[in-house]
Amino acid sequence: MQKCTACNLPETYETIEFDENGVCNICRQKEFKDEKIDWQRRAEMLSRVIEKHRGKYEYDCILPFSGGKDSTYTLWYLVKHYKIRPLVVQFNHGFMRDTLMENNRRTFKKLGVDVISFTPNWKLVKRLMLETLVRKGDFCWHCHTGIFAYPMHIALKYQVPLIFWGEPSSEYTAYYNYEDDEIEQVDETRFNRFINLGITAEDMYSMIKDDYQCDPRELTPYTYPKLRDLKKLKYQSVCLGSYIPWDVKENTKIIQQELGWRGDQVEGMPWDEYSYEKIECSMQGMRDYIKYLKRGYSRVSQMTALDLRNGRIAKEYADKLIADYEGRKPPSLTLFLEYLGISEDQFNHIVAKTVVPPFKPDFEGMEYAPKTDDFDRWYREDEQDRGIIFKNPV
Ligand SMILES: [Zn+2]
Repeated sequence: MQKCTACNLPETYETIEFDENGVCNICRQKEFKDEKIDWQRRAEMLSRVIEKHRGKYEYDCILPFSGGKDSTYTLWYLVKHYKIRPLVVQFNHGFMRDTLMENNRRTFKKLGVDVISFTPNWKLVKRLMLETLVRKGDFCWHCHTGIFAYPMHIALKYQVPLIFWGEPSSEYTAYYNYEDDEIEQVDETRFNRFINLGITAEDMYSMIKDDYQCDPRELTPYTYPKLRDLKKLKYQSVCLGSYIPWDVKENTKIIQQELGWRGDQVEGMPWDEYSYEKIECSMQGMRDYIKYLKRGYSRVSQMTALDLRNGRIAKEYADKLIADYEGRKPPSLTLFLEYLGISEDQFNHIVAKTVVPPFKPDFEGMEYAPKTDDFDRWYREDEQDRGIIFKNPV
C-alpha cells in the first residue's frame, strides 16, 4: 500500500490524497494550521461567541461530554477561562469504563457543573450494532449518532442555542479543511457527511422493524432534530478547537494536572506511549481491530501520524510501534460476539465484505493482544441474555 512519506498513513485512510512528493493532504492541513491561521483573531471570535450568549438562558451553553481527554479539556477550558455556565450532557453508549467514570465524577465535582446523563435501551443498542456491522462493517452507529444528535435535542428542550464541542475533525480527516479558513459547524450536514454512515434513524427503523420489536419513538435519541426548530432557536454548534490551536498532548497534560484526569490501557495500543487516547469505551479495541481488518492500519498508525506531524517522534520509532502493535486481536472480541450472538466465523465473513482494497486481511494469522487490567470487570452477559431477541426467529 502507498503510505504518506511524512506521517505513514496509508492510501486506505478516509479522505486521504497524496501530492507529488508523496505527502498527504492531512499533513499539509497541519502546516496550514500552524502557519497561516490567525489564532489571535480566532480567540477574539471565541470571546464574541461566548459574550453573545452569556446569561440569556438557563445555561450559557450545552456541552456534550464523553469524559475523554477532548471533552474534559473543553469543559475545563471554558469554565476556567470564561467562567461559563454549561449544561454538561452525557450520552452513555453502554461501554463506559471504571477509570472514565471516576474521572467524570472528579471533573464534575472539581468544576462544579450541572450534568445530564442519558443511557439508551441496551437491547436496542445491540440490535443497532448488528445492523450497522452487517451493512457497513462499523458497529458504532448508535454511539456516534447518539453522541451528536442527543445533545441537540437537549439544546432544544432547554432552549439553549450555543453547543460547544471539543476537537475539530480537521485534525484527522479532510472532510473539513483548516485551509478553507471556515469555522466547522457541527450541524446536520456534518452529521450526514461522516457521522451517520449514510443511515438516518428513520432508515434504521425500517431496517430493523420486521425482525425486532421496536417502537419508532425508541429511535428518537438517534435522530437529528428538525432544522426548522434549530433555526428558530438560532443555534450555533461549534468546536473549541476551531478557535484555539488544538494540541492533544498538551491538553492532556493540563487536565491531568488540574483535574487529576487519569489515562487507561486500551487493547492493542502501546500503553506507556498512548495512555490518554480513546479510554472511554471498552469496545475501542474491537473498533480498532475492525479498522485494521478493513483498511490495514489501526489507532497506532493514527497516533504515530499525529506525533510525526508534530515532530515529536522519529520515523523509525513510529515504524517499530506499528510493527509491534498493529494487527492483533483484542480479547474483547469474545464479549462482542456474545453481545451480538454471532460466531467468530460469522464476524469474519461480515467484515471480509467491507475490506478496502488493496488491503487484504489475514484472518487466520492474528494473535491476541494482552488483556487490560479492567478486562474482567467489563460487562459480560449471562447465557440467556446473549445475542439479540428477534421477533420472528429464523
Ligand atoms: Zn501525511
